[in-house]
Amino acid sequence: MFKYPSPKQVAVLSALLIAVLIFLLLIVFREFRGYSYDWLLIATITVLVFIVSYIVFLFSIQRFLYRKIKLIYKTISEHKFSTTENPGIKNIEKNTIEEVEQEVLEWTGSKTKEIERLKELELYRKEFLGNVSHELKTPIFNVQGYIETLIDGGVDDEKIKMLYLQRASRNVERLSKIIEDLEMISMFESGAQQLAYEKFDIYSLVLEVIDSLKLLAEKSNIQTQFKTGSKSGIMVYADKEKIKQVFTNLITNSIKYGNRGGQTQIGLYDMEKNILVEVSDNGIGIEKQHLSRLFERFYRVDKGRSKEQGGTGLGLSIVKHIIESHRQTVNVRSTPGEGSTFGFTLRKSSV
Ligand code: ADP
Repeated sequence: MFKYPSPKQVAVLSALLIAVLIFLLLIVFREFRGYSYDWLLIATITVLVFIVSYIVFLFSIQRFLYRKIKLIYKTISEHKFSTTENPGIKNIEKNTIEEVEQEVLEWTGSKTKEIERLKELELYRKEFLGNVSHELKTPIFNVQGYIETLIDGGVDDEKIKMLYLQRASRNVERLSKIIEDLEMISMFESGAQQLAYEKFDIYSLVLEVIDSLKLLAEKSNIQTQFKTGSKSGIMVYADKEKIKQVFTNLITNSIKYGNRGGQTQIGLYDMEKNILVEVSDNGIGIEKQHLSRLFERFYRVDKGRSKEQGGTGLGLSIVKHIIESHRQTVNVRSTPGEGSTFGFTLRKSSV
């Protein structure tokens, strides 16, 4: 208990010691020197000495400690209250040591959390930079290879010339797709991406996307259609272009990771205030351990298949950013070998 005595405990003990000494002194004077102090006077003087000593001790200890810790406390307060008015510094004389201790402990706790968060961000930044350079490196090296082969004489062979130019062009397309996707994500993350809300029929928008992906679907012989019960005329209030991008990414994935001859179904479910949208496929599916990381930037379950299909690994991350910026949620359920369903909600238009 007294390993780390508080200033009050030290003051009580010191005052008690002085009071006992005075008490003994008064007794000695009374018994051996013939002073006629009565017991009431002795008790009063002892109590008074105790009270006065306690106040003096407490005051001196606190002043001494304050001087010692003022600088530390001031520094902490300056970090804690970064406003122009600084209540921490203003109140330092009024605060008790216990309050100061409490504040220091709180400050340490918050700083520890902040440092952990910064460390996480630093790790995230390093990982992200590594991912970006890795993603950019491959198409750049490919283009470099094709150009060098052309320079080294390939340009004279009509067949090689055309083939390599087409390949180089595909790699440049891939590069610009990665940059475009990264730009969009960074706009969302920096908060610079503004949403242009409008009222529109979600059914018609899905039809538009299905139509634009017709060729891709036909290549894999995948049928894209609405689930029975999905009606037109449900008006939502959202950024139409961004939601179009969400459908494009989800339906494209359902085709890319679908099986030949498979099906993609889009379900629209009217809920009270919201509408639930589900994009389901009967494709390869995703194992459970990947589901929680699926919406991270550059996360891919099967890297080979993704790249072969021209994927940047950013499509689902963009979907999540768009839906969350609408203050809605996106989720996924999947069974390997059976297929996947990506669902999200949107606010229905109230007028
Ligand atoms: P990518 O450009 O690689 O398709 P995404 O962010 O769109 O990137 O998707 C991330 C990963 O999630 C994909 O690489 C793929 O492994 C997996 N994935 C996405 N959609 C599906 C789906 N419908 N079926 C199976 N796997 C999917």
